Amino acid sequence: MAGVVRNPLIAATSYLTRSSLSFAADLASAWVKLGESAVGAVTGTRAGPATLRLNMLILCDENGAPLIAPGKLTASINRASNVLLDESGVRVRHVGTRVSGRPAPTAALDPRANKLLLLDELTGRNDFYRSELADFSEAGSLLDVVGKPITAIVVRNIAGQTTGCSLGISADWVIVQASLFDDEAPHSYDETVLAHELGHACNLPHHPDKDNLMFPMSSPPADIRGTSMNKLQSAVLHGNRHVIPGVRH
Ligand SMILES: [Zn+2]
Repeated sequence: MAGVVRNPLIAATSYLTRSSLSFAADLASAWVKLGESAVGAVTGTRAGPATLRLNMLILCDENGAPLIAPGKLTASINRASNVLLDESGVRVRHVGTRVSGRPAPTAALDPRANKLLLLDELTGRNDFYRSELADFSEAGSLLDVVGKPITAIVVRNIAGQTTGCSLGISADWVIVQASLFDDEAPHSYDETVLAHELGHACNLPHHPDKDNLMFPMSSPPADIRGTSMNKLQSAVLHGNRHVIPGVRH
């Protein structure tokens, strides 16, 4: 299908460039914050909570019908905000929810997961997401790199048993399955997945403890993962380019 696949070498180059820029931004962000923490420790000043900005994007099916009503997302957004605030002092600020104004192609509605999603990113198969995300762009602003919001894209069905997926530090978006937010479907409703995917987007890997937010498995309704985080995970979150440091009083 050469007709639909971009030159993979060009795509890979742009991906790697973007990754190393992300990494450099994370390092710079961490150094600035390390300096601020040191000053805070000496002067006794305390910072308010740091902020992670979140956009939600709901795709529409082939007939143009939104995959879920925007109001259904509220519980998971609030849960993510409470978990990250309580466990690591990072407040999630919900910037907004946008419903895509056009039918999405089936490949975007029913994406592949993990390494295949990464391959799809490299080969341009995720271009529909990219074009939709352009509406959230703050290009030219400092906040387009440091403090850039993460966008959670609500899709219809992710391949396999996966209900959420992130490309980690290299992308500013994650995908989450619409059924996670449907509180009338107890066997798929799971408020922990959005927070879990935000963790991945901020560079947190999986954790083997079932009580931890980054435990890989979660099986509603009886076996939903916990939401605890440890100090190292909290430090990674605070050193991330998406997280804006708290304001000092
Ligand atoms: Zn995961």
